[in-house]
Amino acid sequence: MRPKLVVGNWKMNGSRANNATLLAGIVEGLGQGNGKASAAVCVPAPYLHQCADALAGAPLAWGAQDVSVHASGAYTGEVAAAMLADFGCRYVIVGHSERRAYHGESDELVAQKALAALNAGLTPIVCVGETLAQREAEQTNAVVGKQMAAVLELLDEGMVERIVVAYEPVWAIGTGKTATPAMAQEVHAQLRSQLRARSAAAADKVAILYGGSMKPDNAVELLAQADIDGGLIGGAALKAADFLAIIQAA
Ligand code: PEP
Repeated sequence: MRPKLVVGNWKMNGSRANNATLLAGIVEGLGQGNGKASAAVCVPAPYLHQCADALAGAPLAWGAQDVSVHASGAYTGEVAAAMLADFGCRYVIVGHSERRAYHGESDELVAQKALAALNAGLTPIVCVGETLAQREAEQTNAVVGKQMAAVLELLDEGMVERIVVAYEPVWAIGTGKTATPAMAQEVHAQLRSQLRARSAAAADKVAILYGGSMKPDNAVELLAQADIDGGLIGGAALKAADFLAIIQAA
């Protein structure tokens, strides 16, 4: 059985003072025992230093929410994977639907970002998911399959084993609407077989997280599905008690 992983995506939220309280609350709760689930927070880049200081030695990993495909040089505003590694990041989210929608990130660019992360020793959390219009047009499998295929085509087999995948139906993100456990499981199973077609070892190892309004009251049922290996949590990751309750459920 794959170990469960719960990752908070803070998006563009936080301040030094609020982060200090939130991180301390999470770490204190984890100290009381979080079973076998691993946990992490992906924070805005300016706060990586704060995480590195506050979380040294704590059972909570940290990461970023985006990464450049470039290694260094004249790319104003970009952050290189090696810089994230320098700040002790373990994870970086790539291809979140907000970046695909607001920054025009293509499936190919997302795959390049996953590659850049892996080359720097980071674990990319590759987000895939369909919009409401695509689901209603019964295109979910095709859309998610194509997003995943771009990553599987670019990475070699050993690298595929080192990624994390997050299925996040766009219509469920920040809306309070959650995919039913059966709906989520169906897509996760498809992603698992797509991974298996590329590498059996990867299919067994890669964690596939669910994201989209996961909360303490729906986490247990979602996390009980055979192919749901954890959660990528937005809103509920901003409250220590809620985030801890989801980790507990995992
Ligand atoms: C997300 O942004 O990755 C997410 C899942 O958000 P929320 O939990 O708020 O729907």
